[in-house]
Amino acid sequence: MSILYELVRAVRTGSVEVVDLTAPLTSSTPILQLPAPFGNTMGFGLEEISHYDERGPAWYWNNIHTGEHTGTHLDAPVHWVTARDGEDVSRIAPMKLVAPAAVIDVSPRVADDPDFLLEVSDIRDWEAEHGALIAGSWLFIRTGWDARSGSQKDFLNVDDAGPHTPGIAPHCAKWLAEEAPVIGVGVETVGTDAGQAGGFDPPFPCHSFLLGAGKYGLTQLQNLDSLPPVGAVVIVAPLPIVGGSGSPARVLALVER
Ligand code: MN
Repeated sequence: MSILYELVRAVRTGSVEVVDLTAPLTSSTPILQLPAPFGNTMGFGLEEISHYDERGPAWYWNNIHTGEHTGTHLDAPVHWVTARDGEDVSRIAPMKLVAPAAVIDVSPRVADDPDFLLEVSDIRDWEAEHGALIAGSWLFIRTGWDARSGSQKDFLNVDDAGPHTPGIAPHCAKWLAEEAPVIGVGVETVGTDAGQAGGFDPPFPCHSFLLGAGKYGLTQLQNLDSLPPVGAVVIVAPLPIVGGSGSPARVLALVER
């Protein structure tokens, strides 16, 4: 039997589960909030065109409005100044949108410290247990932050010192960009960088280094606790917005059960 028919049969029988890693898109989906004087994205919204009424008696449909970086979304390289001539989201090769995922679980440490930063040593420890990162794979960082996604306030976790959300240490971001064989990183938070990363050197190191290296970011993932540390295959489906710096994306994981 062909590999693809075998796969479909496995999905039908449940020996391969399809796990949705995507946050639902609603007007209350949390969005990034940058301090003045920076511009901010709009949230997601529906604008009704007709609903089986005089505007369209047999049909219901909406216009949507959204930022490119609203909800579960992909950051394309051109999002950052370090890749100003880099790929826009429409130019990402489709084959790169199907890739294995490595999942590192740091949720117990994040529970103790919302400003937790992933270090290279954490990834080396993970590799000692689960094997070397596979070339072309995502690194997904499980922090438990998806449990907060029902509330903008809890999700952004802002106090007088700014937002407090977990992320990646600058040195580790540089290592992931320049040395690790990953195609990008995926997180459960509103962006791939930590809440405090605006004050890091360089500012927003994950964006700066990874996008600068032509790699990708995925944000606001959920259900990472349903994935094994290795073995899941992920399908990422951003809209092919021509010239776009990113796009809301449906992110599905295939997991053998
Ligand atoms: Mn983004």
